[in-house]
Amino acid sequence: MSDTTTFLNELTSLLGERGLVREPDAMARYVSDWAGDTLGMPIAVARPATTAEVAEVAKRCYEHGIAMTPQGGHSGLVAGALPAANGQELVISLERLNSVRAIDPVNFTVTVDAGCILENVKLAAAEHDCDFPLSLGAQGSCQIGGNIATNAGGLNVLRYGMMRELVLGLEVVLPDGRVWEGLDALHKDNRGYDLQQLFLGSEGTLGIVTGAVLKLSPRPTQSRTALLGLPSVQAVIDLYGLARRECSDLLTAFELIPRRCVELAMEATPELRDPMDSAYPWYVLMEVAATGPVDLGSMLEQLLENGMERELVLDGALASSDTQSAQLWQFRESMLEGQRQRGEHLRTDISVPISTIPDFVTQASEVVMAASPECEIIAYGHVGDGNLHFNILPPTAMADSDKKAHLHDLEARLFEVLDDFHGSISAEHGIGRTKQAPYLARLSPIERELVSGVKALFDPKGLMNPGRILPADD
Ligand SMILES: Cc1cc2nc3c(=O)[nH]c(=O)nc-3n(C[C@H](O)[C@H](O)[C@H](O)COP(=O)(O)OP(=O)(O)OC[C@H]3O[C@@H](n4cnc5c(N)ncnc54)[C@H](O)[C@@H]3O)c2cc1C
Repeated sequence: MSDTTTFLNELTSLLGERGLVREPDAMARYVSDWAGDTLGMPIAVARPATTAEVAEVAKRCYEHGIAMTPQGGHSGLVAGALPAANGQELVISLERLNSVRAIDPVNFTVTVDAGCILENVKLAAAEHDCDFPLSLGAQGSCQIGGNIATNAGGLNVLRYGMMRELVLGLEVVLPDGRVWEGLDALHKDNRGYDLQQLFLGSEGTLGIVTGAVLKLSPRPTQSRTALLGLPSVQAVIDLYGLARRECSDLLTAFELIPRRCVELAMEATPELRDPMDSAYPWYVLMEVAATGPVDLGSMLEQLLENGMERELVLDGALASSDTQSAQLWQFRESMLEGQRQRGEHLRTDISVPISTIPDFVTQASEVVMAASPECEIIAYGHVGDGNLHFNILPPTAMADSDKKAHLHDLEARLFEVLDDFHGSISAEHGIGRTKQAPYLARLSPIERELVSGVKALFDPKGLMNPGRILPADD
């Protein structure tokens, strides 16, 4: 019997038939991501149901020298959770570890299994009049473990921070099967090195997150949403400064949307109507939220008045009900689908200091358009965090076979502009496989040594998600 067959037989007796998927048809849903990308088939898909089972699976992998691919909701956008093309990896899906273990509404914490879907954690928190504020387009499918592994951000970062700020404790299965128990629910803890933070954004390369203690907030009792039309990106950034000051720091979202995205949203969702009487080059979708007796409506109206007086805001639609607010947010969600429908395109998730966004957009657009006059730039994003999705649709007339190389070239040019602004090539989605080359090219020798040292310490055999962030043979 081959070593792989012995290994799989061991897993079957450990996890039972339900816990191990071996048939190619049944494995199909574990080999592609939200974007529809695939690389290869895994040896099998393990579906452990407890932390102890995850630990036992990892131990067997360690003994047999089998590479592991931890997998959450496969909404990641850098191919980190896709099994390798060489067919030599075991996917370890966390989907059966999906219980909310405990909620403490006085400590404002929730303890969850890593396979819980983000949306379900938000609903569980709401039942206790609490809010888990991480919000992103994929929240109906992404898992808490994936959010931790990618240090997810999303729409409310400017008020609540990224996942890094929302995790108080972790339980992690290390590559050799040992379990690191760090499920503390402490809001303050200064004992030496913060091991937990190493797993935030580690993209499954250091261990498998199986449980977490998350920080909750009081559930806002009221919120107001506005969609505003603006003349320029500079006006958007000036309005952002005004809004931070005039809204008592109650801003929860401040999204930049170009006109083209409004059009893409209407293409993808035909029942959406143009939100204002005229079209504007740029839009801001903003939200304020609060608990207690705060007059958010007056606050927002005052901001708009001041914004119009300064000629930053040209027009605006204020939602006066939850339904209207949901309709405004629909533009933000549908524009993603609109882009997806355009097929292959360059997705980026870069960041620069907020104050430099207007100059960056101008310079980057000039460089990209000079290299590819027929392409379409779609720059939108969480500008309140300095985070832009500077995405590029290739020329419609371009042959499909040429698109990848063309977009790759435009990405390199874009990143060179980004370097001039001391920006980050990934503010959200991480490195995975997709961004590995530009990431490595920008690491200093000291950074490279430290990063490789961390990986070697946690994963001396290089079995945990090999080839993501660092090369497999690092
Ligand atoms: C429509 C859409 C909108 C999005 N919006 C945002 C956004 O606003 N902000 C943002 O930050 N991201 C966004 N994303 C990206 C994505 O949703 C996040 O990266 C998310 O956190 C991934 O979670 P997941 O469970 O789907 O992880 P997966 O895609 O399954 O995995 C992602 C990475 O994490 C690892 N991993 C997964 N689970 C574990 C675990 N339990 N232990 C260790 N490693 C693990 C995987 O190996 C992989 O490297 C968006 C994606 C889509 C499709």
